[in-house]
Amino acid sequence: MSADVIDGKAFAARVRTEVAGHVTRLRTDHGITPGLAVVLVGEDPASQVYVRSKGRQTAEAGMNGFEHRLAASTSEEDLLALVNNLNADPAVHGILVQLPLPDHIDEALVINAIDPAKDVDGFHVSNVGLLGTGQKSMVPCTPLGCLMLLRDRHECLSGMNAVVIGRSNIVGKPMAQLLLLDSCTVTVAHSRTRQLPDVVRQADIVVAAVGRARMVRGDWIKPGATVVDVGINRIAAPEMGEGKTRLVGDVDFEDCSRVAGAITPVPGGVGPMTIACLLANTLTACCRVNGLEEPERLTA
Ligand code: NAD
Repeated sequence: MSADVIDGKAFAARVRTEVAGHVTRLRTDHGITPGLAVVLVGEDPASQVYVRSKGRQTAEAGMNGFEHRLAASTSEEDLLALVNNLNADPAVHGILVQLPLPDHIDEALVINAIDPAKDVDGFHVSNVGLLGTGQKSMVPCTPLGCLMLLRDRHECLSGMNAVVIGRSNIVGKPMAQLLLLDSCTVTVAHSRTRQLPDVVRQADIVVAAVGRARMVRGDWIKPGATVVDVGINRIAAPEMGEGKTRLVGDVDFEDCSRVAGAITPVPGGVGPMTIACLLANTLTACCRVNGLEEPERLTA
């Protein structure tokens, strides 16, 4: 068997086009332009790349982007003051504070200072609680992107066995909540899980969010299962030249492709969905605060 490869890049492009269409209508019909503020503290190279990419895609979707780059030495107090200003700014509908923050800043304190209605990352405790109780919330972007891909692949997720590997607050736990809301039977596996391959072998849906290169092997996968690989791991690639590296997921793509029914590649799978969902969340936040109908299919 050779699995269908789920093209996250193409799917994300469709989501962005859909968002851009809604943004145009918001502007022409209501005179409103959604705005996303991104706050970057320090010079973490990976974060800089993400922030640049977010800025570009925000503009391409027709939204206003507000970028705040602060020195690594910025005090917690100053960062909280900026968050408060953004909370009060009516032109800003979404606020994203790029993580990780420098060690001297309390991440939870900053995230929980964001107005939950503008928390487009969905990390605020209010949003976590709302999602956990099945109420309308802002949903973390990466698991929302995974859900969209899964819903696109399967007409109905109800009753399917899903195994999420990883229990982080940003991917594993919200992913499990979303799959539960879609009536899957959900198992959350993690670093202390016993007989992990046997657990994964029960799954119709596997979501791997671990951070270990190619950990999930083909013989862990139930024939025909759908495999969503969230992992982004940089490994040495001497075959591409001395000192070269490349990105791989948490799933051994070649091995699992022989058994799975469908699989997301890395790169080009879940990755592009994350920023597309950030734009979708900003649009949703803007519609909600203005009492306008939310765009269908772009929320959980
Ligand atoms: P994390 O380090 O916070 O959590 C990793 C989880 O994996 C933990 O819950 C841990 O219990 C579990 N784990 C670790 N070793 C394990 C093992 N041997 N067996 C089973 N479980 C194990 O990581 P995270 O923030 O959830 O990210 C996970 C991966 O997803 C990383 O590679 C990260 O780069 C990637 N990621 C990608 C996107 C995207 O946009 N595609 C977004 C966020 C994270």
